[in-house]
Amino acid sequence: KERSPRYNRILLKLSGEALAGDEGFGIDPRVLDTLSLEIGQLVGIGVQVGIVIGGGNLFRGAALQTAGLDRVAGDHMGMLATVMNGLAMRDALERSNIRTRLMSAIPMSGIVEHYDHRHAIRYLKNGEVVIFCAGTGNPFFTTDSAACLRGIEISADVVLKATKVDGVYDDDPVKNPEARKYDRLTFDQVLDSKLGVMDLTAICLCRDHDMPLRVFNMNKQGALLNLMLGGSEGTLVAS
Ligand code: UDP
Repeated sequence: KERSPRYNRILLKLSGEALAGDEGFGIDPRVLDTLSLEIGQLVGIGVQVGIVIGGGNLFRGAALQTAGLDRVAGDHMGMLATVMNGLAMRDALERSNIRTRLMSAIPMSGIVEHYDHRHAIRYLKNGEVVIFCAGTGNPFFTTDSAACLRGIEISADVVLKATKVDGVYDDDPVKNPEARKYDRLTFDQVLDSKLGVMDLTAICLCRDHDMPLRVFNMNKQGALLNLMLGGSEGTLVAS
């Protein structure tokens, strides 16, 4: 039976951790294959998929700074880590016969395409998955901010942040079994209550440009497809 998706174009934010599997570090090829399967299902029903990939499974600027490195150098390492994740993700998608482009905010001739928003939109319209790596290309930003930025640039219908929990809670659900999940929040509620959805830069970008944001559990099999088909998953943050 024909089921038409509720979104035409999405921006999926995958953290580096999402690629790491149980190890919490590095890249687990089995996880990549599972992700490819789920992303392939979206492409299969005609959803245009942009992905912003994190790098926290390899390097984070803030952590490197704590270890004594210069922050800007650390952030550069973090951004290069996202390029490595992007290469791995593209490889997994293409092995699953999903046509994929990898675009980097930092030019790296011979390895990845340089990000160009008009090219990205053309690829998306062509049914290709586009992975955006190297974050925003600037230190002191996060890939969450990059996800909101790219989502706005490519006019995505929604930014989807994949996490390990079911959505946004009023307390840490891992530590507090009484924690309550929100189904819907406004940007101002997130900002006022200091709910740790994304960093402030990311939240403000979405608020200022009216980009809805949904936090959902990527470890739940089929959650992404269910969302596309109108199901309710996670927490929606919108104005
Ligand atoms: N980063 C950066 N500018 C950006 C995006 C990322 O400098 O626009 C660096 C930053 O050091 C960050 C690292 O890249 O810690 C990895 O990104 P992030 O921590 O957002 O990855 P995630 O937590 O999503 O795995």
